[in-house]
Amino acid sequence: MRRRLAAGNWKMNGTAASLSEVEKLLQAHVSPSVEILLCPPATLIAQMNWKKGQHPLALGGQDCHAEASGAHTGDISAAQLRDAGATFVIVGHSERRTDHKETDEQVRAKAEAAHEEGLVAVVCIGETLAEREGGHTLDVVSRQLEHSVPEGATGENTVIAYEPVWAIGTGLTPTSEQIAEVHQALRSRLSARFGADAAFFRLLYGGSVKPSNAAEIFAIPDVDGALVGGASLKAADFSPIIAAL
Ligand code: PGA
Repeated sequence: MRRRLAAGNWKMNGTAASLSEVEKLLQAHVSPSVEILLCPPATLIAQMNWKKGQHPLALGGQDCHAEASGAHTGDISAAQLRDAGATFVIVGHSERRTDHKETDEQVRAKAEAAHEEGLVAVVCIGETLAEREGGHTLDVVSRQLEHSVPEGATGENTVIAYEPVWAIGTGLTPTSEQIAEVHQALRSRLSARFGADAAFFRLLYGGSVKPSNAAEIFAIPDVDGALVGGASLKAADFSPIIAAL
Protein backbone atom coordinates (compact mmCIF):
# COMPACT_ATOMS: atom_id res chain seq x y z
CA MET A 1 0.00 0.00 0.00
CA ARG A 2 2.95 2.35 0.63
CA ARG A 3 5.24 2.72 -2.37
CA ARG A 4 8.80 2.15 -1.25
CA LEU A 5 11.19 5.05 -1.62
CA ALA A 6 14.93 5.18 -2.18
CA ALA A 7 16.03 8.78 -1.60
CA GLY A 8 19.53 10.10 -2.21
CA ASN A 9 20.79 13.24 -0.52
CA TRP A 10 23.91 14.59 -2.21
CA LYS A 11 24.35 17.33 0.42
CA MET A 12 26.98 19.90 -0.67
CA ASN A 13 28.55 17.55 -3.21
CA GLY A 14 28.45 17.49 -6.98
CA THR A 15 28.98 19.68 -10.00
CA ALA A 16 27.89 19.34 -13.62
CA ALA A 17 30.50 16.55 -13.97
CA SER A 18 28.44 14.44 -11.55
CA LEU A 19 25.55 14.28 -14.01
CA SER A 20 27.25 11.20 -15.49
CA GLU A 21 26.28 9.36 -12.28
CA VAL A 22 22.64 10.23 -12.92
CA GLU A 23 22.93 8.88 -16.44
CA LYS A 24 24.15 5.55 -15.02
CA LEU A 25 21.37 5.51 -12.48
CA LEU A 26 18.77 6.05 -15.19
CA GLN A 27 20.00 2.94 -16.98
CA ALA A 28 19.43 0.62 -14.01
CA HIS A 29 16.21 -1.40 -14.06
CA VAL A 30 13.88 -0.33 -11.27
CA SER A 31 10.74 -2.12 -10.15
CA PRO A 32 7.60 0.04 -10.55
CA SER A 33 6.87 -0.57 -6.88
CA VAL A 34 9.94 1.51 -5.97
CA GLU A 35 10.18 5.29 -6.25
CA ILE A 36 13.63 6.87 -6.62
CA LEU A 37 14.37 10.39 -5.45
CA LEU A 38 17.59 12.36 -5.82
CA CYS A 39 18.18 15.56 -3.88
CA PRO A 40 21.24 17.19 -5.45
CA PRO A 41 22.50 20.68 -4.62
CA ALA A 42 19.97 23.21 -5.92
CA THR A 43 22.45 24.26 -8.62
CA LEU A 44 21.98 20.89 -10.34
CA ILE A 45 18.22 20.33 -10.13
CA ALA A 46 17.33 21.95 -13.45
CA GLN A 47 20.13 20.17 -15.32
CA MET A 48 19.14 16.83 -13.81
CA ASN A 49 15.53 17.48 -14.69
CA TRP A 50 16.52 18.06 -18.30
CA LYS A 51 18.81 15.00 -18.31
CA LYS A 52 16.21 12.59 -16.94
CA GLY A 53 13.65 13.43 -19.64
CA GLN A 54 10.60 11.20 -19.18
CA HIS A 55 12.30 8.91 -16.66
CA PRO A 56 10.26 8.69 -13.44
CA LEU A 57 13.25 9.62 -11.24
CA ALA A 58 11.97 12.27 -8.81
CA LEU A 59 14.08 15.29 -7.84
CA GLY A 60 14.11 17.23 -4.62
CA GLY A 61 15.71 20.16 -2.85
CA GLN A 62 17.64 19.81 0.41
CA ASP A 63 15.97 22.73 2.17
CA CYS A 64 13.57 25.58 1.43
CA HIS A 65 12.71 28.91 3.01
CA ALA A 66 9.42 29.19 4.90
CA GLU A 67 8.44 32.29 2.92
CA ALA A 68 7.41 32.29 -0.71
CA SER A 69 9.81 35.04 -1.87
CA GLY A 70 11.60 38.13 -0.64
CA ALA A 71 14.78 39.58 0.82
CA HIS A 72 16.53 36.41 2.03
CA THR A 73 19.96 36.36 0.44
CA GLY A 74 21.23 32.87 -0.26
CA ASP A 75 17.93 31.15 0.48
CA ILE A 76 15.69 29.30 -1.93
CA SER A 77 11.91 28.99 -1.94
CA ALA A 78 9.72 25.96 -2.49
CA ALA A 79 8.33 27.64 -5.62
CA GLN A 80 11.86 28.03 -7.02
CA LEU A 81 12.59 24.36 -6.37
CA ARG A 82 9.39 23.37 -8.10
CA ASP A 83 10.22 25.65 -11.00
CA ALA A 84 13.59 23.88 -11.40
CA GLY A 85 11.88 20.48 -11.56
CA ALA A 86 11.72 19.34 -7.93
CA THR A 87 8.68 17.54 -6.56
CA PHE A 88 10.15 16.86 -3.11
CA VAL A 89 12.16 18.82 -0.55
CA ILE A 90 14.05 17.63 2.52
CA VAL A 91 13.34 19.75 5.60
CA GLY A 92 14.88 19.60 9.06
CA HIS A 93 17.92 17.51 8.17
CA SER A 94 20.11 17.24 11.27
CA GLU A 95 22.88 19.13 9.46
CA ARG A 96 20.46 22.05 8.99
CA ARG A 97 19.30 21.75 12.59
CA THR A 98 22.97 21.85 13.74
CA ASP A 99 24.63 24.22 11.24
CA HIS A 100 21.72 26.67 11.02
CA LYS A 101 20.13 26.13 14.44
CA GLU A 102 16.80 25.22 12.86
CA THR A 103 14.06 24.50 15.37
CA ASP A 104 11.11 22.13 15.04
CA GLU A 105 8.85 25.14 14.55
CA GLN A 106 10.97 26.43 11.66
CA VAL A 107 11.05 22.98 10.12
CA ARG A 108 7.27 22.80 10.33
CA ALA A 109 6.96 26.19 8.63
CA LYS A 110 9.23 24.97 5.83
CA ALA A 111 7.14 21.82 5.43
CA GLU A 112 4.03 24.00 5.21
CA ALA A 113 5.71 26.14 2.54
CA ALA A 114 6.58 22.99 0.62
CA HIS A 115 2.96 21.79 0.83
CA GLU A 116 1.66 25.13 -0.43
CA GLU A 117 3.75 24.64 -3.55
CA GLY A 118 2.64 21.04 -3.97
CA LEU A 119 6.02 19.59 -2.97
CA VAL A 120 6.33 16.48 -0.82
CA ALA A 121 8.18 17.36 2.39
CA VAL A 122 10.70 14.81 3.66
CA VAL A 123 10.77 15.72 7.35
CA CYS A 124 13.91 14.51 9.13
CA ILE A 125 14.07 13.67 12.82
CA GLY A 126 16.53 11.73 14.98
CA GLU A 127 18.29 11.60 18.31
CA THR A 128 21.90 12.46 19.18
CA LEU A 129 24.22 9.89 20.73
CA ALA A 130 23.86 11.52 24.15
CA GLU A 131 20.06 11.34 23.85
CA ARG A 132 20.22 7.65 22.86
CA GLU A 133 22.63 6.81 25.65
CA GLY A 134 20.45 8.71 28.10
CA GLY A 135 17.45 6.56 27.12
CA HIS A 136 15.57 9.50 25.60
CA THR A 137 15.31 8.38 21.97
CA LEU A 138 11.55 7.80 21.81
CA ASP A 139 10.81 11.02 23.69
CA VAL A 140 13.05 13.05 21.39
CA VAL A 141 11.77 11.67 18.10
CA SER A 142 8.15 11.87 19.27
CA ARG A 143 8.61 15.51 20.21
CA GLN A 144 10.30 16.29 16.89
CA LEU A 145 7.55 14.48 15.00
CA GLU A 146 4.85 16.34 16.88
CA HIS A 147 6.34 19.80 16.32
CA SER A 148 8.02 19.44 12.90
CA VAL A 149 5.13 17.84 11.01
CA PRO A 150 2.35 20.30 10.10
CA GLU A 151 -1.34 19.80 10.77
CA GLY A 152 -2.05 19.51 7.05
CA ALA A 153 0.35 16.60 6.59
CA THR A 154 -0.93 13.50 4.79
CA GLY A 155 0.68 10.31 3.61
CA GLU A 156 0.76 11.91 0.16
CA ASN A 157 2.48 15.19 0.93
CA THR A 158 4.81 14.10 3.74
CA VAL A 159 7.52 11.48 4.21
CA ILE A 160 9.20 11.00 7.59
CA ALA A 161 12.92 10.17 7.70
CA TYR A 162 14.26 8.75 10.95
CA GLU A 163 17.96 9.58 10.96
CA PRO A 164 19.87 9.09 14.22
CA VAL A 165 22.41 11.94 14.26
CA TRP A 166 25.16 9.58 15.44
CA ALA A 167 24.59 7.25 12.47
CA ILE A 168 24.91 9.93 9.76
CA GLY A 169 28.18 9.64 7.89
CA THR A 170 29.79 7.59 10.65
CA GLY A 171 29.43 4.02 9.40
CA LEU A 172 27.50 3.26 12.60
CA THR A 173 23.90 2.03 12.43
CA PRO A 174 21.36 1.14 15.11
CA THR A 175 20.44 -2.52 15.48
CA SER A 176 17.41 -3.77 13.55
CA GLU A 177 15.53 -3.92 16.87
CA GLN A 178 16.36 -0.29 17.63
CA ILE A 179 15.19 0.87 14.19
CA ALA A 180 12.01 -1.22 14.48
CA GLU A 181 11.28 0.22 17.92
CA VAL A 182 11.52 3.81 16.67
CA HIS A 183 9.54 3.20 13.48
CA GLN A 184 6.76 1.48 15.41
CA ALA A 185 6.66 4.34 17.89
CA LEU A 186 6.49 6.88 15.04
CA ARG A 187 3.68 4.99 13.36
CA SER A 188 1.69 4.91 16.57
CA ARG A 189 2.24 8.64 17.21
CA LEU A 190 1.06 9.32 13.64
CA SER A 191 -2.03 7.18 14.28
CA ALA A 192 -2.83 9.12 17.42
CA ARG A 193 -2.65 12.36 15.46
CA PHE A 194 -3.82 11.52 11.95
CA GLY A 195 -6.01 8.48 12.53
CA ALA A 196 -6.34 6.02 9.67
CA ASP A 197 -4.24 8.23 7.34
CA ALA A 198 -1.19 7.32 9.45
CA ALA A 199 -0.97 4.07 7.51
CA PHE A 200 -0.12 6.02 4.33
CA PHE A 201 2.91 7.93 5.64
CA ARG A 202 6.20 6.50 4.39
CA LEU A 203 8.84 6.12 7.10
CA LEU A 204 12.44 6.10 5.85
CA TYR A 205 15.51 5.11 7.79
CA GLY A 206 18.68 7.15 7.17
CA GLY A 207 22.23 7.00 8.49
CA SER A 208 25.11 5.01 6.97
CA VAL A 209 22.88 2.98 4.63
CA LYS A 210 25.12 1.19 2.13
CA PRO A 211 24.88 -1.74 -0.28
CA SER A 212 26.05 -4.20 2.39
CA ASN A 213 23.39 -3.34 5.00
CA ALA A 214 20.46 -2.18 2.81
CA ALA A 215 18.66 -5.55 2.56
CA GLU A 216 18.78 -6.07 6.32
CA ILE A 217 17.43 -2.57 6.97
CA PHE A 218 14.67 -2.88 4.37
CA ALA A 219 13.50 -6.13 5.98
CA ILE A 220 12.63 -4.29 9.21
CA PRO A 221 8.87 -3.87 9.69
CA ASP A 222 7.64 -0.34 9.02
CA VAL A 223 10.78 0.69 7.11
CA ASP A 224 9.49 1.95 3.76
CA GLY A 225 12.83 2.94 2.29
CA ALA A 226 15.96 4.92 3.00
CA LEU A 227 17.42 8.38 2.91
CA VAL A 228 20.98 7.80 1.72
CA GLY A 229 23.81 10.32 1.88
CA GLY A 230 27.34 9.23 0.96
CA ALA A 231 26.26 6.05 -0.81
CA SER A 232 23.92 7.96 -3.15
CA LEU A 233 26.74 9.89 -4.84
CA LYS A 234 27.86 7.02 -7.07
CA ALA A 235 25.43 4.95 -9.13
CA ALA A 236 27.59 1.90 -8.34
CA ASP A 237 26.62 2.25 -4.66
CA PHE A 238 23.09 3.66 -4.99
CA SER A 239 21.85 1.15 -7.60
CA PRO A 240 22.36 -1.93 -5.38
CA ILE A 241 20.61 -0.10 -2.53
CA ILE A 242 17.64 0.61 -4.81
CA ALA A 243 17.68 -3.02 -5.97
CA ALA A 244 17.52 -4.20 -2.35
CA LEU A 245 14.22 -2.39 -1.77
P1 PGA B 1 24.82 9.03 5.21
O1 PGA B 1 23.87 10.30 5.34
O2 PGA B 1 24.09 7.99 4.39
O3 PGA B 1 26.05 9.52 4.53
O4 PGA B 1 25.08 8.52 6.61
C1 PGA B 1 22.47 10.14 5.48
C2 PGA B 1 21.81 11.48 5.53
O5 PGA B 1 22.34 12.43 6.13
O6 PGA B 1 20.73 11.66 4.95
